Amino acid sequence: MPSHAGASAKLSKSRFLSGLQCHKQLWWRVHEPEAAELTPTKALQNLFAQGAQVGERARRYVPGGELIDLPFYQLDNKVAATRESLRRDPPALYEAAFLADDTYAAVDILERGPGGARGYGVIEVKASNSLKPEHIPDVAVQVHVLRQGGLSVERAEVMHLNPDCRHPDLSKLFVREDVTAAVEGALLGVPDQIAAQLRMLGGPLPDVPIGEHCTKPYDCPFLDRCWKLPQHHVSTLYRIERRKVLEYEADGYATIYDLPTDLELSAIHARQVQAVTSGRLVAQPALAGALTGFDGPLAFLDFETVALAIPRYAGCRPWENMPVQFSCHTQGRSGKYVHHEWIADGPEDPRPALAEAVVRACGGARHVVAYYASFERECLKQLAQAVPDLARELHAIGAKLVDLLPVIRNNVYHPDFGGSFSIKHVLPALVPSLAYGDLEINEGETASVELQRLMFDGGEMRLQERARLRQALLSYCERDSWAMVKLLERLRGLVGAEQLELF
Ligand code: SF4
Repeated sequence: MPSHAGASAKLSKSRFLSGLQCHKQLWWRVHEPEAAELTPTKALQNLFAQGAQVGERARRYVPGGELIDLPFYQLDNKVAATRESLRRDPPALYEAAFLADDTYAAVDILERGPGGARGYGVIEVKASNSLKPEHIPDVAVQVHVLRQGGLSVERAEVMHLNPDCRHPDLSKLFVREDVTAAVEGALLGVPDQIAAQLRMLGGPLPDVPIGEHCTKPYDCPFLDRCWKLPQHHVSTLYRIERRKVLEYEADGYATIYDLPTDLELSAIHARQVQAVTSGRLVAQPALAGALTGFDGPLAFLDFETVALAIPRYAGCRPWENMPVQFSCHTQGRSGKYVHHEWIADGPEDPRPALAEAVVRACGGARHVVAYYASFERECLKQLAQAVPDLARELHAIGAKLVDLLPVIRNNVYHPDFGGSFSIKHVLPALVPSLAYGDLEINEGETASVELQRLMFDGGEMRLQERARLRQALLSYCERDSWAMVKLLERLRGLVGAEQLELF
């Protein structure tokens, strides 16, 4: 139910940025703050939590400041406390809040000018590994609000994580980039943008057509409301560029069914169009040849990883994906499959035990099957760096990797793939009896976040809750490696059957 907040609405930095992306998105955020779409996913909550840790850590690198230690929603109290703190003139303020031009802005770090000069520097802390274009308006709106509030701001910086920093030397965890010139340029438009957003919020839901802005710079939470596309819309063509979609739409081709038969298409798109328009699974004759590298004994290997903004283990960089769990199915001489698995369930460095278990599981295999093998290859490389005693064995496993994904991508298409060759789309289409819907954890991003919870918060969980989480993670990873076993069986069954009726 829309609220009547618009007439009296104030902006905040995040609202302003949302409005820059799309007025309709901002209108919904303000008028429907309880909308289901605005409930953050576990992955987003994790991102916020890691962002908060990075923000706290950044203060150590600009020391001696005063923290405005009030919850973010007590905006007016934060503004008052900031005013008080400024009178004491500390070298820096953390989480200082300001209100001007009907817009609130909280500044991660406000730094007094060099040598105690009167001008201030605004430092926006970002948990990313680089400076991004979208950081500029983020800083610009803060500088605007501070200057409107009478503060002299002379510098603007983005302080982001340093991708070259390696644990345990965290002395260079951050990079500070001066963005003053870019921010001064962006500032020119800010007053009009604020006025336009406030005006818009006082009116009815604006009419904004969908477009590239829906996913840039961030995925809009309301995509499902606005993007009601027909099944097999041309945008579902595998990895199609947005520009091409617009071109097809302009030519009157809304769906794959509408495309003219003489259109020049890539081999994958041609197969997709053939499968969709015929309602049949298409398998190329070359499939048999593509499967020749999959001779046994086989191991089917899948890793799960965590990515930590602030590295905790030797050699790790910010946000580096670190393997902490694996599942592997191996086929014995009798043809029966044996399952191997290992999971980190505490904060200790998991890599030595994990590496040992992987070597034990895959040691006897001639080929090691993965789905999107570059991920498993990278995990094995990282384990080899972290556990030099097993480096030779781990590299040997890496050399045996064979990838199922390109075999399917280059030879098979099922109309239910929906333009994606991810295992989450491919498995239910090719092996309908084995999907992911029955699992408590059923996709990789959630698994990664839950693995972090098990590793770092597991000690505070009730035993039952912890055991359940551990089991859910094991089941998810096991499904991934078993999925490969079943996919390979299915692909072998498809050899020789170039088109299969689905209906
Ligand atoms: S999906 Fe696109 S048009 Fe709809 S609210 Fe989001 S950004 Fe705006």
